[in-house]
Amino acid sequence: MIIVMKPNAAQQSIDSVVSYIENNGLSTHLSAGEEVTIIGIVGDKTKLPTDNLISFKDVDRIVPVTETYKLANRKFHPDPSSIQVGNTWIGPGSMSIMAGPCAVESEEQLMCIARAVKKSGASILRGGAYKPRTSPYSFQGLEEEGLRYMQTAGRETGLATICEVVCQEAIDAAVKYVDMIQIGARNMQNFILLKEAGRSGLPVLLKRGLCATIDEWLNAAEYIIAEGNPNVVLCERGIRTFETATRNTLDLSAIPVLKEKTHLPVIADPSHSTGSYKYVAPMAKAAVACGADGLMIEVHNNPACALSDGPQSLTFQKFDRLTRELEPFCALAGRSFERFDGQASDCHRTGE
Ligand code: PEP
Ligand code: MN
Repeated sequence: MIIVMKPNAAQQSIDSVVSYIENNGLSTHLSAGEEVTIIGIVGDKTKLPTDNLISFKDVDRIVPVTETYKLANRKFHPDPSSIQVGNTWIGPGSMSIMAGPCAVESEEQLMCIARAVKKSGASILRGGAYKPRTSPYSFQGLEEEGLRYMQTAGRETGLATICEVVCQEAIDAAVKYVDMIQIGARNMQNFILLKEAGRSGLPVLLKRGLCATIDEWLNAAEYIIAEGNPNVVLCERGIRTFETATRNTLDLSAIPVLKEKTHLPVIADPSHSTGSYKYVAPMAKAAVACGADGLMIEVHNNPACALSDGPQSLTFQKFDRLTRELEPFCALAGRSFERFDGQASDCHRTGE
């Protein structure tokens, strides 16, 4: 439940409500808006005598929160959250573009992709070092070596960096080298990993599970936040449906639904959802129109030779065209991103 205080309630009144709740063994979450403060109650409510709460000074009303996720709930935190990743922010007003290869393949490959995506407007470099592949015989990633290349590329370009983690060992390594960790679709309900990510101290990008409902997804986010890490960003990356024309089905309606249910930023991944470079641009534009705070897009210097997810990867030229085309959509949505039209990447461009 939440306790909505009267506009401009005295600090003393807020403090006495908080003490009453905490003295009964529950914890509180404060959301101080410009005029109204909301006190969220987390824990077993049966322990709390609530009848007299309404008579506390400056209490306006008590609203039950029926959802099992509390800290991720918009009722607890009515203003949308902005989350810092390295030197950039994900949230209202900006369009955060995360771009890069599915997998880090070499230092040279990553460096040239990093320069190209930065030039076209990405603010965060993505690159997988631990790859959860369907087949055990597929490329599994460079692991810590890949993370080191991410750090070098991030430092050289000034881009923030994100990498997927699949176990505690990967989290321990990621903390040393990157700015944000990603929990992939296959691990969205790996509750031990979610708790470990919550204790990592890094912001977390939580991708939607292949067959997860929005409610299950928000409960997964709650696991991370409940460990004391409020810096969670949700990524809609397509769900399994009966349709086989695309790899998955990008659930665009999840974006406005999430905006209603949670204060956490929401981004969309048109690459993994469609599985084909041909559909990335239209779905990216649609996601911006639906209210996404950002996009995750796979980009490769030579998609035909990529060690993973080549068919959905954009060439530099296609990525550049896409970000140019996105600009008016972002402007209409009240969001912006920065292009750096400086020097062209010196990397050999192929497959365009
Ligand atoms: C990825 O981002 O490379 C990835 C494997 O994504 P997902 O977990 O959405 O399949
Ligand atoms: Mn991929």
